[in-house]
Amino acid sequence: MNMQEKIERIRNKKAFICDMDGVIYHGNRLLDGVKEFIDWLQENERKYLFLTNSSEKSPMELQQKLARLGVSISKEHFYTSALATAIFLQTQKPNGTAYVIGEPGLINALYDVGYSMNEINPDYVVVGEAKAYNLDSVTHAVNLVVGGARLVGTNPDLTGPIEKGIMPATGALIAPIALATGVTPYFVGKPNPLMMRTALKRLGCKREETVIIGDRMDTDILSGIEAEIDSLLVLTGVTSREIINKFAYRPFLVLDGVKNIPEMLEKIELE
Ligand SMILES: [Mg+2]
Repeated sequence: MNMQEKIERIRNKKAFICDMDGVIYHGNRLLDGVKEFIDWLQENERKYLFLTNSSEKSPMELQQKLARLGVSISKEHFYTSALATAIFLQTQKPNGTAYVIGEPGLINALYDVGYSMNEINPDYVVVGEAKAYNLDSVTHAVNLVVGGARLVGTNPDLTGPIEKGIMPATGALIAPIALATGVTPYFVGKPNPLMMRTALKRLGCKREETVIIGDRMDTDILSGIEAEIDSLLVLTGVTSREIINKFAYRPFLVLDGVKNIPEMLEKIELE
């Protein structure tokens, strides 16, 4: 397939699933051309979902963050590993119970699917990004897992970016529970293709009609490969052009950033 054919194939997509950090913003800085990209999606009647592996913020909080950066879109356009985890648990055990180490974004997502909180004999111990993380809650979680609760992590990320360096993310926070119990956690977020499948359902689109945009080979692009969704790698985040060849799989297309998308797709339309 030559470049022209690849671009044509992207132009025919009905839906865009877009990672957030490294794709539309860095921390609190909106990246170049993001407003124009979102305008293009809306003007051309494409469906879109901004998707993050973080389980900390609710769709409403993400909407407010983008509004502060000058982009106004409704909260239905946001999808998090907390929402995907809630859907996963609801399909596994409807109206179950959980002991949660995590933020309100995760707890609310679980309440929304009919789960209740239980510190005594929950079906699941669920771990996400947690500011109030402490030894007491880890010890409690360990004993619940020893007692038979199943161990679920919202996302496997070991670290997340903060202004000055990195901070431990869910994969690191759940590790002491996994080590102390000998139980391997199940992670719902990227690169688990389950996250993409539930996102497709949310969009009401088929995988063939959808494209994934991300900045990480080992999460965004890999989950695209495994869910058989065409992927666009952007170089505004953690991946440089040289690193791509180190992986056994390739994105469908590589772009400098989402800022290139409207121009790339419009050009074809004019020809
Ligand atoms: Mg990213």
